[in-house]
Amino acid sequence: ERKQLHRLRREPSRTLDGVDVKLFANAESREDVAEAHALGAAGVGLYRTEFLFLQRSELPDEDEQFRAYRDVVLGMTGRAVTIRTMDIGADKADRTGLALTDEPNPALGLRGVRLSLARADVFETQLRAILRASGYGPLRVLVPMVSAREEIVAVAKLVKRIARDLRSEGHEIADHVPLGAMIEVPAAAIALPGFIGVVDFVSIGTNDLTQYLLAADRGNDALGDLYSPLHPAVLKLLHQIIRTAKARGKPVAVCGEMAGDATLAPLLLALGLEEFSLHPATLLEVRRAIRAQRLDALRAAAPSLLRCRDRDAIERWLGKVTAD
Ligand code: PEP
Ligand code: MG
Repeated sequence: ERKQLHRLRREPSRTLDGVDVKLFANAESREDVAEAHALGAAGVGLYRTEFLFLQRSELPDEDEQFRAYRDVVLGMTGRAVTIRTMDIGADKADRTGLALTDEPNPALGLRGVRLSLARADVFETQLRAILRASGYGPLRVLVPMVSAREEIVAVAKLVKRIARDLRSEGHEIADHVPLGAMIEVPAAAIALPGFIGVVDFVSIGTNDLTQYLLAADRGNDALGDLYSPLHPAVLKLLHQIIRTAKARGKPVAVCGEMAGDATLAPLLLALGLEEFSLHPATLLEVRRAIRAQRLDALRAAAPSLLRCRDRDAIERWLGKVTAD
């Protein structure tokens, strides 16, 4: 069984009816990047940069960050690397003094792009480091916790100005660095048609999207099954986001834990998803699940999935398409 899975390293993530699905990796260490490369990941879909900022008392400077990002780009040898800007808030063990320390409700507080825009100095250092790394291979910038159009417009403006600065300083950076928004706040998901035009791609953070949509703390075990993407509202919103992005020709991925759950792959494919970003440890299982499905059959079964009224019905739908 393990050996069979291992053999899939060199196989494409292709459905039975011949559609190639892109499996990107979530990574935050050198080991993750090496594993992603070895497993044939399409690229890095989510490089979490928080670890550079946590567990230390001083902020990383531009050169330290540049080296870290450049190494990921070099490690992927020409495959796309998506660097997520810092998603820091009072929920993380931050000792640099960057985040506020005692917010009453960290999940709803100054985190992600909100903190970045509030600390333009720190954010600019990070963006300079990321853009410098773009001179070494294909790189994209992903912005976490976007809730309004203005935020992504502000980041786009900043990126443009910093790119100009770097070029005039003599740095060789990419002509165009695609900018994407994480869709993980319900307001951003609903308002997406109004700002899909100002982003190059989107990535759905189902961990936070589920938490905020269901008002269910992602870290609170007492909630049991309540915190789960298998809720009709989550599926409807996912479907809407995917449709909005695809209608405008913008790549859309899911990068939350949901993408790494092989049992849920048929559901995401039915909703129209063609890009997954997941931890390398789950990549081959998801590849195997994709290779066992026909995309045309799943798409035909999408209406019945969207009609499910509760979790039981969604699980029955999954059982049925997997048995067929
Ligand atoms: C998410 O929210 O789904 C996500 C991928 O980001 P994080 O888990 O880092 O909040
Ligand atoms: Mg998130």
